[in-house]
Amino acid sequence: SRFGFVLPCLDVVASLASLPLSTVTLHTSSTVVPVATDLVSSALVLLVEDNEANVQTFSSYLEAKKYRVAIAKDGLSAVDQAKALIPDIILMDIQLPKLDGIGAIQQIRAQPALATTPIIALTALAMKGDREKCLAAGANDYLSKPVKLQLLAQTIQRLLAAV
Ligand code: MN
Repeated sequence: SRFGFVLPCLDVVASLASLPLSTVTLHTSSTVVPVATDLVSSALVLLVEDNEANVQTFSSYLEAKKYRVAIAKDGLSAVDQAKALIPDIILMDIQLPKLDGIGAIQQIRAQPALATTPIIALTALAMKGDREKCLAAGANDYLSKPVKLQLLAQTIQRLLAAV
């Protein structure tokens, strides 16, 4: 079937990608308005990052690539949001307040619904053994900061295609 509809404000659609998943469905009185197909079908990325500049850089890049983006700014809310949203993929900073990325990855992996969700660890530390620590905790891949955005997009696409 075909649906035709007029959105009174295109800014609503433009801002959808930055809203929490639970608010993405548009309602007009009793009717649910279908959202543009590419928004519905695009993968949900949980971006876990406490640095505001990085949050802005990564989220605007990913939204331009038509991903939906949810944001967590510490390890504990990363675990909560992962459980609540069941994202398609998780980008996990390692140095985080409250609970670090390694601990968050371990708690996420302990959830049956998140046991195979792709996780990309992001860290500024170029210390020997970091990669192994992330992978041992359950990350699928690892990128060192500063992260090249094109490499990030390629890594996301590769992991999503492998699910
Ligand atoms: Mn950090």
